[in-house]
Amino acid sequence: MAQAQKITPRAKDFSEWYNDVIIQAELADYSPVRGCMVIRPHGYRIWELMQRALDDMLRATGHENAYFPLFIPMSFLAKEAEHVEGFAKEVALVTHTRLKATGKAGAQAVAVDPDSALEEPLVVRPTSETIIYAMFAKWIQSYRDLPLLMNQWCNIVRWELRTRLFLRTTEFLWQEGHTAHATEAEAEAEARQMLAVYRKFQEDWMAMPVITGRKTDSEKFAGALRTYALEALMQDNKALQAGTSHNLGQNFAKAFNVQYQTAAGGLEYVWNTSWGVTTRMIGGLVLTHGDDNGLICPPQLAPIQVVIVPIWKSDAEQETVLRTAVSVRDDLVKAGIRVKLDGRPELKPGAKYFEWEAKGVPLRLEIGPRDVAAAQVMTARRAGGKAPAKVEGIARTVAAALDEIQAALFQAAKERREAHSIRGATKAQFLEFMKGGGGFAYGGFCGSAICEAEIKRETAATVRVLPDEEFRSPQVPRTCMWCGKPSIAEAVWAQAY
Ligand SMILES: [Zn+2]
Repeated sequence: MAQAQKITPRAKDFSEWYNDVIIQAELADYSPVRGCMVIRPHGYRIWELMQRALDDMLRATGHENAYFPLFIPMSFLAKEAEHVEGFAKEVALVTHTRLKATGKAGAQAVAVDPDSALEEPLVVRPTSETIIYAMFAKWIQSYRDLPLLMNQWCNIVRWELRTRLFLRTTEFLWQEGHTAHATEAEAEAEARQMLAVYRKFQEDWMAMPVITGRKTDSEKFAGALRTYALEALMQDNKALQAGTSHNLGQNFAKAFNVQYQTAAGGLEYVWNTSWGVTTRMIGGLVLTHGDDNGLICPPQLAPIQVVIVPIWKSDAEQETVLRTAVSVRDDLVKAGIRVKLDGRPELKPGAKYFEWEAKGVPLRLEIGPRDVAAAQVMTARRAGGKAPAKVEGIARTVAAALDEIQAALFQAAKERREAHSIRGATKAQFLEFMKGGGGFAYGGFCGSAICEAEIKRETAATVRVLPDEEFRSPQVPRTCMWCGKPSIAEAVWAQAY
């Protein structure tokens, strides 16, 4: 690690804190390309662990991975009217295929070869509905070809003006699921199922509690019939949209002529869904669990779950301490725990603690000469708490501690969210709440886009979701919090990333 730098405390500047944690934990770095980031090995390992867990869940629900082109003919995007409108302002285009030497010096040594202009420009995928459903039209003929359940892991480009590491970058990584079904009910069930899969992943693996529900028309995906989303509350009381799942209806099927022959011999359009989560989740992990010392990684997704720091003064001590440290490490490896023994002689234990804390390692084992003599190690949890543990049976003790840490992180995040949620707010209470730091505000909503726009203008808050039943207030409001007209649904409002 380069020299350690101080992390700006959250209370001083939350936004600076966030950037500092990412840089200090070596999750990502700014790149020479504006708006694009480099995901460094520690951050990429978290992504790989996320991918592995999610991919298993996608496979278990019947989905198969495939890969579609990065480039999409521009005309494809135009086939679905809402879709093109939603993405038109942020697409990158490939218009030429060659450069040529100019004979000039420096940056002007090459220029676009005007003779290489493409007949039809290609869009760098901002999402893949159009290219995937163009292929579905080829592959789906009869009801026997349905449902078609596909997923791809890939990169996406959406030209962003204001970017934040992991949260909003011009290029990001994600998975996008795309399915085709015979009936609307099946597509709806699929969109709901994937929302549940994401929730399980985000709660059980990321230890990040989420609220699920439906988006209002003004917040739904461009081209969808209905959009469902997962929303988590970050430590600064802003909401993070952590994933979306769309029932696309027959919009794309009609645009791309994806039809199937029914059992009775008729011809019908398929019903599509699409759903995705992105590297933004790593930002969510930081914003949910990090503290002023850096990242706190939930054990399920920690690249290193346990770091062992041996402590010695003399050479004789070094030998006995390292012997115990190696045997503890081997026990943990055998138990399938991701462990690192940090035996670097040039670094003092304190410097090692500092580094691994910043990187979010959930559990540290310190082993000094006195510990060896007592056949024990000292355990120190990243989120707080020190206790000795016997060397004998250390793998079991550590596994239990990691489970406890995972559960405690989820519990703490959930309690924090509930402490920053208000229900049944009046307009006055809502305004005060948003002015005083915000959080999730549950209130009645008349369904009007005018109320939504006014609220956004005055408070910067948007409807995050019309929450699913289990999140709704016991007493569902009867009137719109803003205009007083009858409420059509309870809504969760928050300022959002
Ligand atoms: Zn209203």
